[in-house]
Amino acid sequence: MFHPAGDPADTGNFPAMFQPDLLIPEFPILDQMIQGRPLVYLDNAATTQKPMAVLLASRHYYEAINSNIHRGTHHLARLATEAFENARNTVASHLNAATPDEVIFTSGTTDAINLVANILSLSGRIGPGDEVLISTLEHHSNIVPWQMLCERAGAVLKVIPCHDDGRLDQAAFLTLLEGRVKILALTWISNSFGTVNPVAEMTAAAKAAGALVMLDAAQAAAHQRIDVQALGIDFLAFSGHKIYAPTGIGVLWGRAEILNSLPPWRGGGEMIKEVTFEKTTYNELPFKYEAGTPNIEGAIALAAAIDFVNGIGLSMIQPYEQALIRAAAEALADIPGIRFYGPADRAGALSFNVEGVHHYDLGTLLDQMGVAVRTGHHCCQPLMARFGITGTVRASFALYNTESDVAALAAATAKAVSMLR
Ligand code: PMP
Repeated sequence: MFHPAGDPADTGNFPAMFQPDLLIPEFPILDQMIQGRPLVYLDNAATTQKPMAVLLASRHYYEAINSNIHRGTHHLARLATEAFENARNTVASHLNAATPDEVIFTSGTTDAINLVANILSLSGRIGPGDEVLISTLEHHSNIVPWQMLCERAGAVLKVIPCHDDGRLDQAAFLTLLEGRVKILALTWISNSFGTVNPVAEMTAAAKAAGALVMLDAAQAAAHQRIDVQALGIDFLAFSGHKIYAPTGIGVLWGRAEILNSLPPWRGGGEMIKEVTFEKTTYNELPFKYEAGTPNIEGAIALAAAIDFVNGIGLSMIQPYEQALIRAAAEALADIPGIRFYGPADRAGALSFNVEGVHHYDLGTLLDQMGVAVRTGHHCCQPLMARFGITGTVRASFALYNTESDVAALAAATAKAVSMLR
C-alpha cells in the first residue's frame, strides 16, 4: 500500500507529505501518449483511472475465486462470498455505517437513486400534493427519478435556486422547507461547478422540517470523508468508478430503520426468504434490495479502491486537490474573456467558458494537445439553462494530477483560444 512520505519542511503552495509522483506509476493507463503528447487526464469527474491494487483485485477474483455467492456449498463459493461480504464491511466502515446491512450494492449512483425513488413511491410515503425537494445543481440522475416519482404519486418537484456564484440560495431553501417536503435529494458536490454544498447544515434543517434526506455523493466520494451517522442523513449514493474502482458497481447506503420499513423493489433470486406460487416472503437487509447475481468482482474491486484511498488518506488527498484546483484557476485567469463557474472554494471540478469560443471547439483542440477535459452540459441541462449557457469546459482533478498537468492545461487552453479567435 502506498504510504506518502515527503519533506515536512516543504512549505510551497502544495501540501507537504503528498507526493503524486510516487502514485502515478500505480495507474498504468496514465503512461501513454495521446496525439504525440503525454496524456494529461483531467476528466476525473466523469470517471477516474484505476490503480494496480484495483486491477489486481479484479483479476484475482476471476483468476482464483470466481463463483456465484451465497448458498454455495463448495470452496470457491465460500471464498467469493467471504470476499463479497468483506467488501461490504469495508464500505460500511468507510461510511461509518451503523451496520454492514445498511450497505446495498447497486450498479452505481443512478441505480441507487432510482431504487430509493421507487421504494418510496411503492410505499405510498409520498402522495398527492407532497413535495420532493432537489436543487438547481443536480445531475440528471438526481432529477429524473424524482420527476418520475412525482408523476406517479401526484407529488410536486421543488427546486432550490442557486446564486450567480453557483452556491445554493439558503434563504430560499429554508422557505421551501415550509412546504410539504417529504424528501430532500441533494448533491454533495456539483459535478458541473464543483460547488460543495453545506450538507450537514442543510440536512439538519430538512430533518427539523420532517423530511427524509438523500445525498448524491457521486462526486463527493473521491474528495470528502463520509460519515453517514454524523451527517444524520437517511440515504447516500455513490459510484465505484468515480473513486478509482470499476464501472458497474456502486452503493446505496440507507438507514436500516427506514429501509426495513420500505418494500422491496426488484424481485428475483437472493431477495426472497421463501417462494411459493401463492406468496413470497422477502429476505432481510441488505439482500432484500439485491435481487439477482450482483457484481461480485466489482464489489471486491471497490473495496480495494477504498483501501487504496484510505492508505493515502482523504485528509492528504483533499488539500492537495484543492491546491491543484486553485492553481488551475489562477493559471487560466489571464486568458482574456474567461469566465469560471462555481465558488472559489470549489472541489473536484473547475468549469469555465471563454467569450467568443465554443466549449466543444475548445475541448476538441485541447484533446489534440493531449489534454482530456469534458465539454457540454455535464448531464446538468437545467443548471446550464439557469446560467444561460449550453455547456462549459470542465477540468476535473484526482489524486494523481500534478502541477505540471495544471501547467499543460493552462498552456493548451491559451493556445487553443488564440487559434479559435
Ligand atoms: N450524480 C452526480 C453528481 C454525478 O456526477 C454523476 C456522474 N457524472 C451521477 C450522479 C451519475 O453517476 P453514474 O452515472 O455513475 O450512475
